[in-house]
Order: sequence, then structure tokens, then C-alpha cells
Amino acid sequence: MSENNFLEVRDLKKYFQTSRGMLHAVDGISFSLKKGETLGIVGESGCGKSTAGRAILRLIEPTEGQIYFDGIDIRALNKEEMRKMRHNMQIIFQDPFSSLDPRKSVSQIIEEPLKINRIYATNRERLDRVKELMDLVGLAQRLVNTYPHELDGGRRQRIGIARSLALNPQFIVCDEPVSALDVSIQAQILNLMKELQAKLGLTYIFITHDLSVVNHFSDTIAVMYLGKIVEKGSTEDIFSHPLHPYTQALLSAIPIPDIHSRQERIAIKGEITSPIDPKPGCRFASRCPKANDYCGRAEPALVETGPGHSAACHLIESIQ
Ligand code: SF4
Repeated sequence: MSENNFLEVRDLKKYFQTSRGMLHAVDGISFSLKKGETLGIVGESGCGKSTAGRAILRLIEPTEGQIYFDGIDIRALNKEEMRKMRHNMQIIFQDPFSSLDPRKSVSQIIEEPLKINRIYATNRERLDRVKELMDLVGLAQRLVNTYPHELDGGRRQRIGIARSLALNPQFIVCDEPVSALDVSIQAQILNLMKELQAKLGLTYIFITHDLSVVNHFSDTIAVMYLGKIVEKGSTEDIFSHPLHPYTQALLSAIPIPDIHSRQERIAIKGEITSPIDPKPGCRFASRCPKANDYCGRAEPALVETGPGHSAACHLIESIQ
């Protein structure tokens, strides 16, 4: 792996056996990430982005592929080694209400990873750390004995963030962390996550269905469609020069706050191809406005078109 890469994922696959055949949830994705950077993984629900996030953390076991974290081949770690490694690799979930135990108070939720890993010898030390984490994420200490249902969505997500930071991780997978929140609260949580990244040197994978959320948040973006990365590049390249028809359609759906804008929305019509034992050809062909006969016969490779910018589409291959 390159010395500069903090995280390197190579040809990661996660398949699930179903009664109808093999579901290719994640089908050979590769990317790398430098320390302190954010990669946005974007795509519709069912594209495999959350499964990819969990497979990278080995919360579910990958079917194939390699994952190097700070130079360590984490797929080679045994259970105990992986448990220790998870101090460094955490996850924030989408719905802070369902991911927090309603029977536990704020302090009990945040201290849980500290207790499980026996980080502090006394209750006093643990409570001090809980309060420190609450300060860090902007939760008033007077809320320490409240319960999740007594708090609004933004505060609940702050609890989830505080809990994910308890063990001082370097890397966090953020799985749709603002999707369940009102727009005004979304901005507050995104700002908080940015501040924490700068303060603690965190590296993020930010998973979202909403491309507009990662615009000011990610350094690089990978667009996923049915288990594959169909385009990846710097955020600037993806927004200013999208190459793949799917990325172009996603971008066209972002509202522009300008009444003079003439941007037209590209409608994606047609049936989604089944991810179960997928047929040969481009997986986007059944919905692609630019598809031709060849698209249904051969799968396009991810081709680099410029430094760090690549896309998987026969139209781009033919331009190369
Ligand atoms: Fe569309 Fe064909 Fe490109 Fe696939 S390969 S995105 S179907 S033009």
C-alpha cells in the first residue's frame, strides 16, 4: 500500500446468499483515503454504501478483498486483535433515536464503550470523561442524567457522536448521520463534525444518499450504483465535471437557489437491475438515458480520465 494512505480498500466484496441467488451487495470496490481527509460515499438506498461501511470495519465479514488501516491488514487480525483495533475505528449511525438504548441515560450511553473496554478504574474518572465528551460535542452537562426520548434529534445525534469518540478513534464511518434530522439541525451537526475533524485529526467516510450534503464536507467522493463505484474523484471534479450519467442525474436533482438557473433535472426512469446474480453489462443500463446496445452486453471498467478522477462508462472509455 502507498505510504500516504491511511485507509486503503482493494476489490472489497460482500455477497449475501438469498433464496433467489447470490446478492452482490458490494461488488469489488477500491479506494484510498489520506489521514485527516473525508471520503463521501454517495448513492441511492440499496446501492451497497452502508454494507461497504460495515464491511470496512468488519462489523460484517467481507466476502473478498483487502483493507489496510494505517498499514495494517485488518482482515488478517483475529477476534481479539480486531476488538482492540475497533478503538481506532468507529461508526455513527443514521437514526440517533433507534441506535440509542431508550432505557439508558445520556451518561450510561456515552460511558458504555469505556466500561466494556475497562478504560477507567473508577466511576468518578469515567464520569469525568463522559462530561469531557459532552463538552466536546456541545451537550450541556445538565443533560447527563436525561434519556434520549427527552431530547431533540440534534442532541440525540450529539450523544451518538460523543459515544463514537469515547475511545479516541482516528477513523469514523458516518452512516447517513444527518438524514433523519431537520435541515437546520443538519447544518449544525455537519459543522460540529468538521470542527471535531480539525481538532482531533479524524478521518471520515461519510455515507449519504444526498450528494449536496457532502459538497462542503468531503475531499473526495465515490458514487456507488448497485454494488459498484461508478465514479470517483475530488469533490471539485465531481461537482464541476461529472462524467458518469448516474452522477450527472444525481447532481441535476440538487435544487439551485437561483430563479434564473436553467439547470434541467435528468429523470432516471426504468427498472433497477437486480443485484442478485447480476447479468453481464452495465448495471445502470436499464435506467441510463445514454444507453446503447453494447451497454447491456459488456461491463464498463473504471477508467481514469484525469488525476484522481475516474468513471465506469463505455462512452468515456471510447473518448480515451
Ligand atoms: Fe449508460 Fe452505457 Fe455508460 Fe452504462 S455504459 S452509464 S448504460 S452509457
